[in-house]
Amino acid sequence: MDFVLSLQPALLAGVAVIVAIGLYYGFRTYQRCPHCGALVRRVYRGWLRCHRCGRQYRRGLRFD
Ligand SMILES: [Zn+2]
Repeated sequence: MDFVLSLQPALLAGVAVIVAIGLYYGFRTYQRCPHCGALVRRVYRGWLRCHRCGRQYRRGLRFD
């Protein structure tokens, strides 16, 4: 039991690191649709169409 209790903090730390990395890449890869706020792929060049509202968005536009 002591082994399990001592293992959990390390396990939680590992999970926290994985989640942090996931969020880091998530924020780098995705952005909010400026029209409806849906999570959409980040635009690197040109325009993309939002899957929820169907309107086009481009890099740099932010949902206020
Ligand atoms: Zn949208």
